Amino acid sequence: MIQFEKITKSFGDLVVVDKLDLHVKEGEFLVLIGPSGCGKTTTLKMINRLVEPTSGDIFVKGKNVMEMDPVTLRREIGYVIQQIGLFPNMTIQENVDVVPRLLGWDKERRINRVRELLSLVDMDPELYTNRYPNELSGGQQQRIGVLRALAAEPSIILMDEPFGALDPITRESLQDELKNLQSKLHKTIVFVTHDMDEALKLADRIVLMKDGNIVQLDTPEMLLRKPANDFVVDFIGKHR
Ligand code: ADP
Repeated sequence: MIQFEKITKSFGDLVVVDKLDLHVKEGEFLVLIGPSGCGKTTTLKMINRLVEPTSGDIFVKGKNVMEMDPVTLRREIGYVIQQIGLFPNMTIQENVDVVPRLLGWDKERRINRVRELLSLVDMDPELYTNRYPNELSGGQQQRIGVLRALAAEPSIILMDEPFGALDPITRESLQDELKNLQSKLHKTIVFVTHDMDEALKLADRIVLMKDGNIVQLDTPEMLLRKPANDFVVDFIGKHR
Protein backbone atom coordinates (compact mmCIF):
# COMPACT_ATOMS: atom_id res chain seq x y z
CA MET A 1 0.00 0.00 0.00
CA ILE A 2 2.81 2.38 0.93
CA GLN A 3 6.41 1.75 0.01
CA PHE A 4 9.44 3.81 1.06
CA GLU A 5 12.59 3.16 -0.94
CA LYS A 6 15.81 4.61 0.46
CA ILE A 7 14.09 7.75 1.65
CA THR A 8 16.32 10.47 2.99
CA LYS A 9 15.20 13.84 4.31
CA SER A 10 17.61 16.56 5.33
CA PHE A 11 16.95 20.02 6.65
CA GLY A 12 20.18 21.82 5.74
CA ASP A 13 22.97 19.70 7.21
CA LEU A 14 20.65 17.82 9.51
CA VAL A 15 19.70 14.37 8.22
CA VAL A 16 16.39 13.52 9.93
CA VAL A 17 15.38 10.47 7.91
CA ASP A 18 18.24 8.35 6.68
CA LYS A 19 17.83 5.91 3.76
CA LEU A 20 14.63 4.52 5.15
CA ASP A 21 13.03 1.45 3.58
CA LEU A 22 9.53 0.65 4.78
CA HIS A 23 6.58 -1.28 3.46
CA VAL A 24 3.12 -0.63 4.92
CA LYS A 25 0.74 -3.44 4.06
CA GLU A 26 -2.83 -2.98 2.96
CA GLY A 27 -5.23 -2.89 5.91
CA GLU A 28 -2.57 -2.83 8.60
CA PHE A 29 -2.31 -0.55 11.59
CA LEU A 30 1.31 0.53 11.66
CA VAL A 31 2.59 2.62 14.55
CA LEU A 32 5.75 4.75 14.32
CA ILE A 33 7.32 5.29 17.71
CA GLY A 34 10.65 6.55 19.01
CA PRO A 35 12.28 9.37 20.96
CA SER A 36 11.34 12.96 20.25
CA GLY A 37 13.12 14.21 17.13
CA CYS A 38 13.82 10.75 15.66
CA GLY A 39 11.90 11.60 12.47
CA LYS A 40 8.42 10.11 13.00
CA THR A 41 6.39 13.14 11.92
CA THR A 42 8.70 13.86 9.01
CA THR A 43 8.32 10.26 7.83
CA LEU A 44 4.53 10.48 8.09
CA LYS A 45 4.30 13.81 6.27
CA MET A 46 6.29 12.53 3.31
CA ILE A 47 3.45 10.09 2.56
CA ASN A 48 1.03 12.90 1.64
CA ARG A 49 3.75 15.30 0.46
CA LEU A 50 3.43 17.78 3.28
CA VAL A 51 7.19 17.23 3.34
CA GLU A 52 9.19 16.38 0.23
CA PRO A 53 11.98 13.79 0.47
CA THR A 54 15.53 14.89 -0.32
CA SER A 55 16.11 11.60 -2.11
CA GLY A 56 14.49 8.21 -2.61
CA ASP A 57 11.01 7.24 -3.73
CA ILE A 58 7.65 6.73 -2.04
CA PHE A 59 4.92 4.74 -3.73
CA VAL A 60 1.28 4.84 -2.66
CA LYS A 61 -0.81 2.09 -4.23
CA GLY A 62 1.94 1.60 -6.76
CA LYS A 63 2.15 5.24 -7.83
CA ASN A 64 5.15 7.45 -7.15
CA VAL A 65 3.83 10.26 -4.94
CA MET A 66 6.19 12.75 -6.57
CA GLU A 67 4.28 12.22 -9.79
CA MET A 68 0.90 12.76 -8.14
CA ASP A 69 -0.88 16.06 -7.74
CA PRO A 70 -0.47 16.97 -4.03
CA VAL A 71 -4.07 18.21 -3.74
CA THR A 72 -5.48 14.95 -5.13
CA LEU A 73 -3.10 12.97 -2.93
CA ARG A 74 -4.26 14.77 0.22
CA ARG A 75 -7.90 14.22 -0.66
CA GLU A 76 -7.24 10.52 -1.07
CA ILE A 77 -5.44 10.17 2.26
CA GLY A 78 -7.08 11.00 5.58
CA TYR A 79 -4.99 13.03 8.02
CA VAL A 80 -5.53 13.55 11.73
CA ILE A 81 -3.30 15.64 13.98
CA GLN A 82 -3.26 16.56 17.65
CA GLN A 83 -4.63 20.09 17.21
CA ILE A 84 -7.47 19.07 15.03
CA GLY A 85 -8.58 22.57 14.16
CA LEU A 86 -12.28 22.18 13.39
CA PHE A 87 -13.71 25.28 11.73
CA PRO A 88 -15.43 27.14 14.60
CA ASN A 89 -18.04 28.82 12.41
CA MET A 90 -19.07 25.59 10.70
CA THR A 91 -21.46 22.93 12.03
CA ILE A 92 -20.37 19.35 12.61
CA GLN A 93 -22.04 18.41 9.31
CA GLU A 94 -20.01 21.04 7.47
CA ASN A 95 -16.80 20.20 9.31
CA VAL A 96 -17.04 16.49 8.55
CA ASP A 97 -18.05 16.79 4.92
CA VAL A 98 -15.31 19.19 3.79
CA VAL A 99 -13.62 16.71 1.44
CA PRO A 100 -16.84 15.15 0.07
CA ARG A 101 -17.99 18.70 -0.74
CA LEU A 102 -14.75 19.41 -2.59
CA LEU A 103 -15.25 16.15 -4.46
CA GLY A 104 -18.72 17.28 -5.53
CA TRP A 105 -20.85 14.77 -3.61
CA ASP A 106 -24.50 15.86 -3.64
CA LYS A 107 -26.15 17.09 -0.47
CA GLU A 108 -28.17 14.00 0.29
CA ARG A 109 -25.15 11.75 0.00
CA ARG A 110 -23.15 14.06 2.28
CA ILE A 111 -25.89 14.18 4.91
CA ASN A 112 -26.24 10.41 4.86
CA ARG A 113 -22.49 9.95 5.11
CA VAL A 114 -22.19 12.21 8.17
CA ARG A 115 -25.11 10.42 9.85
CA GLU A 116 -23.46 7.10 9.19
CA LEU A 117 -20.11 8.30 10.55
CA LEU A 118 -21.61 9.79 13.72
CA SER A 119 -23.48 6.55 14.34
CA LEU A 120 -20.23 4.60 13.99
CA VAL A 121 -18.89 6.35 17.11
CA ASP A 122 -22.21 6.34 18.95
CA MET A 123 -22.86 10.05 18.58
CA ASP A 124 -26.56 10.60 17.89
CA PRO A 125 -26.86 12.40 14.51
CA GLU A 126 -30.05 14.15 15.63
CA LEU A 127 -28.14 15.70 18.46
CA TYR A 128 -24.82 16.56 16.88
CA THR A 129 -25.11 17.27 13.14
CA ASN A 130 -26.06 20.90 13.56
CA ARG A 131 -23.94 21.74 16.58
CA TYR A 132 -20.81 23.87 16.48
CA PRO A 133 -17.39 22.67 17.65
CA ASN A 134 -17.39 24.83 20.80
CA GLU A 135 -20.51 22.97 21.96
CA LEU A 136 -18.50 19.72 22.08
CA SER A 137 -15.97 18.39 24.60
CA GLY A 138 -12.30 18.04 23.61
CA GLY A 139 -12.75 14.30 23.16
CA GLN A 140 -15.81 14.76 20.96
CA GLN A 141 -13.99 17.34 18.84
CA GLN A 142 -11.13 14.91 18.30
CA ARG A 143 -13.62 12.20 17.40
CA ILE A 144 -15.08 14.57 14.79
CA GLY A 145 -11.55 15.10 13.49
CA VAL A 146 -11.24 11.34 12.97
CA LEU A 147 -14.63 11.22 11.22
CA ARG A 148 -13.61 14.10 8.97
CA ALA A 149 -10.55 12.11 7.90
CA LEU A 150 -12.80 9.12 7.15
CA ALA A 151 -15.52 11.08 5.34
CA ALA A 152 -14.55 10.51 1.72
CA GLU A 153 -13.69 6.87 2.36
CA PRO A 154 -9.92 7.06 1.97
CA SER A 155 -8.10 3.74 2.06
CA ILE A 156 -5.17 5.30 3.95
CA ILE A 157 -5.26 7.38 7.12
CA LEU A 158 -2.28 9.15 8.65
CA MET A 159 -2.50 10.04 12.33
CA ASP A 160 0.02 12.17 14.21
CA GLU A 161 -0.42 11.88 17.98
CA PRO A 162 -4.16 12.34 17.47
CA PHE A 163 -5.02 11.78 21.13
CA GLY A 164 -1.95 13.45 22.64
CA ALA A 165 -3.81 16.45 24.03
CA LEU A 166 -6.61 14.49 25.71
CA ASP A 167 -6.93 13.47 29.35
CA PRO A 168 -6.03 9.80 30.01
CA ILE A 169 -9.62 8.54 30.31
CA THR A 170 -10.87 10.21 27.11
CA ARG A 171 -7.69 9.12 25.41
CA GLU A 172 -8.26 5.52 26.32
CA SER A 173 -11.84 5.54 25.12
CA LEU A 174 -10.84 7.08 21.77
CA GLN A 175 -8.16 4.42 21.41
CA ASP A 176 -10.82 1.76 21.98
CA GLU A 177 -13.11 3.39 19.45
CA LEU A 178 -10.36 3.63 16.86
CA LYS A 179 -9.49 -0.03 17.35
CA ASN A 180 -13.16 -0.88 16.97
CA LEU A 181 -13.50 1.30 13.84
CA GLN A 182 -10.43 -0.32 12.36
CA SER A 183 -11.84 -3.81 12.87
CA LYS A 184 -14.92 -2.73 10.89
CA LEU A 185 -13.31 -0.58 8.21
CA HIS A 186 -9.91 -2.21 7.58
CA LYS A 187 -8.14 1.02 6.62
CA THR A 188 -4.40 1.22 6.22
CA ILE A 189 -3.37 3.40 9.15
CA VAL A 190 0.02 4.94 9.89
CA PHE A 191 -0.03 6.33 13.41
CA VAL A 192 2.67 8.36 15.20
CA THR A 193 2.96 8.31 18.97
CA HIS A 194 5.57 8.41 21.71
CA ASP A 195 3.35 6.42 24.07
CA MET A 196 4.41 2.77 24.18
CA ASP A 197 1.15 1.58 25.77
CA GLU A 198 -0.80 3.27 22.98
CA ALA A 199 1.42 1.61 20.38
CA LEU A 200 1.10 -1.83 21.98
CA LYS A 201 -2.65 -1.48 22.20
CA LEU A 202 -3.29 -0.29 18.65
CA ALA A 203 -0.60 -1.63 16.36
CA ASP A 204 -0.51 -4.65 14.12
CA ARG A 205 3.17 -3.79 13.73
CA ILE A 206 5.36 -1.25 15.48
CA VAL A 207 8.27 0.61 13.88
CA LEU A 208 10.68 1.74 16.56
CA MET A 209 12.79 4.57 15.14
CA LYS A 210 16.01 6.20 16.24
CA ASP A 211 17.96 8.94 14.46
CA GLY A 212 15.93 8.72 11.28
CA ASN A 213 16.01 5.00 10.82
CA ILE A 214 14.36 1.80 11.97
CA VAL A 215 15.76 -0.03 14.96
CA GLN A 216 13.09 -2.72 15.02
CA LEU A 217 9.93 -3.42 13.05
CA ASP A 218 7.80 -6.09 14.65
CA THR A 219 4.47 -7.08 16.09
CA PRO A 220 3.83 -5.77 19.62
CA GLU A 221 4.24 -9.28 20.96
CA MET A 222 7.63 -9.83 19.29
CA LEU A 223 8.86 -6.39 20.32
CA LEU A 224 8.21 -7.31 23.94
CA ARG A 225 9.45 -10.88 23.64
CA LYS A 226 12.48 -10.34 21.44
CA PRO A 227 13.75 -6.75 21.62
CA ALA A 228 16.47 -6.33 18.98
CA ASN A 229 18.96 -4.57 21.25
CA ASP A 230 19.53 -2.57 24.45
CA PHE A 231 18.02 0.57 22.92
CA VAL A 232 14.71 -1.24 22.42
CA VAL A 233 14.77 -2.65 25.95
CA ASP A 234 15.55 0.81 27.35
CA PHE A 235 12.91 2.56 25.26
CA ILE A 236 10.18 0.11 26.22
CA GLY A 237 11.23 0.29 29.86
CA LYS A 238 11.10 4.08 29.94
CA HIS A 239 7.84 4.56 28.07
CA ARG A 240 5.45 2.19 29.79
P1 ADP B 1 9.55 13.34 15.77
O1 ADP B 1 8.22 13.34 15.12
O2 ADP B 1 10.15 11.97 15.87
O3 ADP B 1 9.59 14.04 17.10
P2 ADP B 1 10.27 15.11 13.60
O4 ADP B 1 10.11 14.32 12.38
O5 ADP B 1 9.21 16.09 13.97
O6 ADP B 1 10.57 14.13 14.83
O7 ADP B 1 11.63 15.93 13.52
C1 ADP B 1 12.88 15.30 13.27
C2 ADP B 1 13.98 16.34 13.31
O8 ADP B 1 13.82 17.21 12.21
C3 ADP B 1 13.97 17.22 14.54
O9 ADP B 1 15.32 17.46 14.92
C4 ADP B 1 13.33 18.49 14.07
O10 ADP B 1 13.78 19.60 14.80
C5 ADP B 1 13.77 18.55 12.62
N1 ADP B 1 12.82 19.26 11.75
C6 ADP B 1 11.54 18.88 11.51
N2 ADP B 1 10.93 19.73 10.64
C7 ADP B 1 11.85 20.67 10.33
C8 ADP B 1 11.85 21.83 9.49
N3 ADP B 1 10.78 22.16 8.77
N4 ADP B 1 12.99 22.55 9.41
C9 ADP B 1 14.09 22.19 10.11
N5 ADP B 1 14.16 21.13 10.92
C10 ADP B 1 13.06 20.37 11.04
